[in-house]
Amino acid sequence: MLKPNRRYGELKDTYLFNTIYRKTSEYLEANPDKKVYRMGVGDVSLPLCKAVIDALHKAVDDQGCADTFHGYMPEVGDPELRKAISDYYRNMGARVSENEIFVSSGACDDLGDILELFDQDNTVMVIEPAYPEYVDTNILAGRKVIHLTSGEENGFLPKPCEEAKADILYICSPNNPTGAAFSRKGLQEWVDFANEIGAVILFDAAYEIFIEDEDIPHSVYELDGADRCAIEICSLSKTAGFTGTRLGYTVVPCKLLRDGMSLNEMWSRNRETRTNGVSYILQKGALAVFTPQGQKQIHDNLSVYKENASYFMEALDAAGIWYCGGKNSPYIWMRCPDGMSGWDFFDYLLREIQVVGIPGDGFGACGRGYFRFSTFGNREETKEAANRLCKLLKKE
Ligand code: PLP
Repeated sequence: MLKPNRRYGELKDTYLFNTIYRKTSEYLEANPDKKVYRMGVGDVSLPLCKAVIDALHKAVDDQGCADTFHGYMPEVGDPELRKAISDYYRNMGARVSENEIFVSSGACDDLGDILELFDQDNTVMVIEPAYPEYVDTNILAGRKVIHLTSGEENGFLPKPCEEAKADILYICSPNNPTGAAFSRKGLQEWVDFANEIGAVILFDAAYEIFIEDEDIPHSVYELDGADRCAIEICSLSKTAGFTGTRLGYTVVPCKLLRDGMSLNEMWSRNRETRTNGVSYILQKGALAVFTPQGQKQIHDNLSVYKENASYFMEALDAAGIWYCGGKNSPYIWMRCPDGMSGWDFFDYLLREIQVVGIPGDGFGACGRGYFRFSTFGNREETKEAANRLCKLLKKE
């Protein structure tokens, strides 16, 4: 008889977002005259930039003409796009060659698929609070997960330690949900640790473009020895507004070997089996992101999100509340006032100022007592929400 994967029963349910939705809807039903400011959502609000839209239109027309039509694309990605991404890495001071870059349909897809490179017996270390996919995908695959907690005492950026010893190490910098980002020195310690114990780092760089500080690396490959221990997973979702368009890329260095096997060759082989590539049209749209015009336009959009972050940071600074993120990240992670739990604070904000964020409890046990705001919303609404928050917190 067929046996289903019983580990589905071990996954936490999607209670967090459902509860936020239910509480907000109930409030609006009871208070139909009120407007709610939704500052929790991690999805972008600005449209794709003009350079991308123009490239997408042109690519659609290409597909309608025999001379320019494209069928299957290479599973690993369009060579022109791989070259553009390789140049992008060079500009940020990291050497990544074209054959180390694999174009994907987004980071979420590859964070799941990449685990096919590793045996089920490997152990996994996840720094908490964390993006839930790291834990869920490994639970489904039957791997043991070690939860390394972080907190204010280390700025939510823990150092490697005995407890963190595992075969696969997840590092997300800048982090979702905390917005904390590793300095060069801090990340180098993890790279050295991984090389020492023979682990592989899965480095999630989905938010690299938000980094402003010189001392924070955009890519793990800016660090010595990372090409011998790290796989980097990237996405155009937050950098260029591709959440609904879908395109990402994963870097698997040629020097990354384990037990005599090349992870780069294995990943090429995996792609041949698991995908028929990303659509020609989307890859042309993505290529436009890496042109000078595209880069300028996506940075114009980013500056709106940065301004949103500044409203929240000013509000929290004025109220003297501890937080991290905001400067190098689109997320702001604040300590709830007066020892409130994340859910108590959620109810309080909804009732008093109609602002919705995300209770930190949803990202693992050490998120309790913290709260996440996203800066991806509309500028005017974010400004108003931050003003309301400031007044409320100062009144306390
Ligand atoms: N990694 C992190 C840390 C994220 O926050 C997200 C999306 O929110 C993803 C990966 C997934 O990105 P994508 O839209 O490319 O699947």
